[in-house]
Order: sequence, then C-alpha cells, then structure tokens
Amino acid sequence: MSDSPFAQQPYQGIATFGRRPHTRDLSQADVAIVGVPYDGATSYRSGTRFGPRAIREQSLLLWGYNNALEVAPFEALRVIDYGDVDVVPVDVQATHRAIEREVAPLVAAGVKVVTLGGDHSISLPLLRAHAAKYGPLALIHFDAHPDTWNTEFGDQRYSHGTPFRRAIEEGLIDPAAYVQIGIRGPTAGPQDYIDVRELGIRMMTLDEAVERGPVAVLDEVRSRVGARPVYVTLDIDAVDPAFAPGTGTPEVGGFTSRELLQLLRGLRGFNVVGADVVEVSPPYDHGNITAILAANAVFELLSVLALK
Ligand code: MN
Ligand code: MN
Repeated sequence: MSDSPFAQQPYQGIATFGRRPHTRDLSQADVAIVGVPYDGATSYRSGTRFGPRAIREQSLLLWGYNNALEVAPFEALRVIDYGDVDVVPVDVQATHRAIEREVAPLVAAGVKVVTLGGDHSISLPLLRAHAAKYGPLALIHFDAHPDTWNTEFGDQRYSHGTPFRRAIEEGLIDPAAYVQIGIRGPTAGPQDYIDVRELGIRMMTLDEAVERGPVAVLDEVRSRVGARPVYVTLDIDAVDPAFAPGTGTPEVGGFTSRELLQLLRGLRGFNVVGADVVEVSPPYDHGNITAILAANAVFELLSVLALK
C-alpha cells in the first residue's frame, strides 16, 4: 500500500470523498469536505440523510486530473474529508445550530468548505457561517425551485422551501448579487415567482437559461457578481430527473449533466468562498447516477477553487 491514495484501487479502503484523508486537523487543509446527513426539512420525498455517504462512495472514481479545466485539484489544494456534522433529526433549528457551530470555525480559519447534503435547509446555517467571515455574500443558486417561501407547513419558517428568504432577511446575502438558475415546474400560482422578483433576486428560469446558453448565462452572472465573495449552492434537482432521479422533489425538463458541468466550469475566475451540493436522495436513485453526478459536480467546484 502506497502513501498516495491514487496508488490504490478505487474500490479499496474506506470511502472518503475523493479518497482524501479523513481528519479534523485544519493545519493540513485548504478545503474541507463536510457531510450533513439531514432530511428533516423536506416537503415531499425524504432520503437525503443518505446523500453524503452516497456521494463519497461515488467519488472514488475521480482520478484527480480535470481534463476540461486542466487542473489537478487534489494536488493544487490540500483537501480533507472532515466527516459529518452531528445532526438532530427531530429539530431543524437545533440541526442548523450544529451545522453553524461545526462549520463556522473552519470558515473563520480560512478553510474553504464544500458541504454534501442533506436537504436544502442546511444552506441557511452554512450561509451564516460564511457571512460571518466575508460579510453579505453573492449567491449563485442552481435549482428547479426558488426556495424563497416565507413559511411552509403552516407557519414553519425553517424548511427546505424557505432558506433563501431567511438568508436575505438576515442580511447574509445581497439580493442584487443573487442569481437563481434552472427554475421551472408547476407551482400553486404565479405568486411564487412574483415573490422572488420582489425580493430583488435575478431568477433565470430553465427555459431562459437553455435558450440563451451557458456562455450568455455566465456572462450575466459575472456582471452581477463581479469579484466579490460568492457562495455556490447546487440543488441537484436543477438537473433533469432523467439524469438525477435520486432527489426529493423532482421536476421534469431540467439541465442535462453536460449542461450542468458546463455551467460549473464557467465559474472559473469567480471568487468562490464556499459551496454545497444538496438534495441527493439515494433511495430514489437508479444505478447511483445522481450520486455520481453530485460527486463530479463537487470535483468541478474543487477544480474552480484550485484555479483561483
Ligand atoms: Mn429544488
Ligand atoms: Mn432547493
């Protein structure tokens, strides 16, 4: 057995992300992969508590060199697998506190955190941890859904349908530098989209994004975000369920895997300070294709970080 993880066969050993060392020693880390196995805030199909483990498992075949971006992120960056946050399945806000408590010191120490979800509610405490260091953030949000409801299940303010309204209310993100990409699907009425625009968010529907193409989409995102610190949140349901069926609230007619990779690679040059990949629900997956895509999406994000 060699010291290099890549000297081993991909199916050998314990599944950490990208076969990186599992450690909490931040002195050896530029980037920490953190799992949040939590699905208590979902509105439909659950199962994302198994997301981090499935993504790690399917990350084993990431050999290390990104041929599209011409970078070896695991060589350019010291990437560790930090393990999982201790979540509280019966309590959304206690889970959010645990996430912030665990992640904030990493961010404060200058470690870039890439989080594996978990349902989308977890982005709120992650944004709190990042805004504490960087101030109000720009946000690039890939999703089929805006996730900007005021409440869900009656008067519940914390669910996977509300995190970005809370984040705006808390001043964690700047709506003028917030772009949603891939929004689609039926809603109860027109009000959901009206609300997004009234919050000052730039919502790019899936139809608009596909019609204009990734280059034009990224040009506009760049003009809104500029060089400021930007957080990237990827709800895997931005991708078509034909490519990513393992998710809780699937919406047909989404991005192809290739389109998603193009968009992520286009983040090269952005000042990305943190990211998450959420809503991967392995019980609804087929042949692990959703988890494979999520693992590759994380690899692209790491590549973008490595090129910074
Ligand atoms: Mn979604
Ligand atoms: Mn979402």
